[in-house]
Amino acid sequence: MLIHDLARGESIQLLAAVHLGRLACAHGGQPYITPLYFAYQDDCLYSFSTFGQKIEWMRANPLVCVESDNIVSPETWTSVIVLGRYEELPDTDDYRVLRTHAYNLLRRNPMWWEPGYVKTMLDGTPRALEPIYFRIHISHVTGHRASADAAAVHPAHRIREDSGWFRRMFHRSSHGAGKP
Ligand SMILES: Cc1cc2nc3c(=O)[nH]c(=O)nc-3n(C[C@H](O)[C@H](O)[C@H](O)COP(=O)(O)OP(=O)(O)OC[C@H]3O[C@@H](n4cnc5c(N)ncnc54)[C@H](O)[C@@H]3O)c2cc1C
Repeated sequence: MLIHDLARGESIQLLAAVHLGRLACAHGGQPYITPLYFAYQDDCLYSFSTFGQKIEWMRANPLVCVESDNIVSPETWTSVIVLGRYEELPDTDDYRVLRTHAYNLLRRNPMWWEPGYVKTMLDGTPRALEPIYFRIHISHVTGHRASADAAAVHPAHRIREDSGWFRRMFHRSSHGAGKP
């Protein structure tokens, strides 16, 4: 398997094509990660939720990370990691156009609203079903693509079995070195 970098445009293409990712936020040094549907446009990921831990944490600390991927097999996959900043789109006149924009982008994905809008009982108390739209401004994005087909990559990047490090690695593992 070979892994190589994606150009920024290729990473953005993946974000535009997939709708599911994992959103990580942090508060008081504690990371927290949840699955999330999103829609990409113009260097932003748009999404939707109701109030809960992740919204509370992102309000307190708007710096977030999103991971998304397209996994074909263990050896063939693409993944993208975004560093970004949370911006809530509140239900006010100033944000009406942006909220409508978010809604129109998100609804292209069937059932986009259901996981974010589901009735939740926490400690026996139902959570308020107040829709919260938000977007993540992408400040940095990286992408990796793994490929099982060594011949498909540039010859300069191929791992040659006769190269020194490969032989040393193979020799070590076949003699049990490095085993716990
Ligand atoms: C495929 C998929 C897509 C989803 N898309 C969205 C989306 O677009 N928008 C959205 O708001 N939600 C989405 N969810 C639900 C999401 O994962 C969270 O469960 C939900 O957003 C509540 O998060 P919260 O921080 O408000 O949790 P709270 O309800 O405040 O969480 C309370 C406690 O429950 C735990 N918890 C919360 N979520 C999970 C979980 N998924 N698994 C295990 N423990 C959990 C937390 O650790 C926390 O301590 C999706 C879930 C899946 C599986």
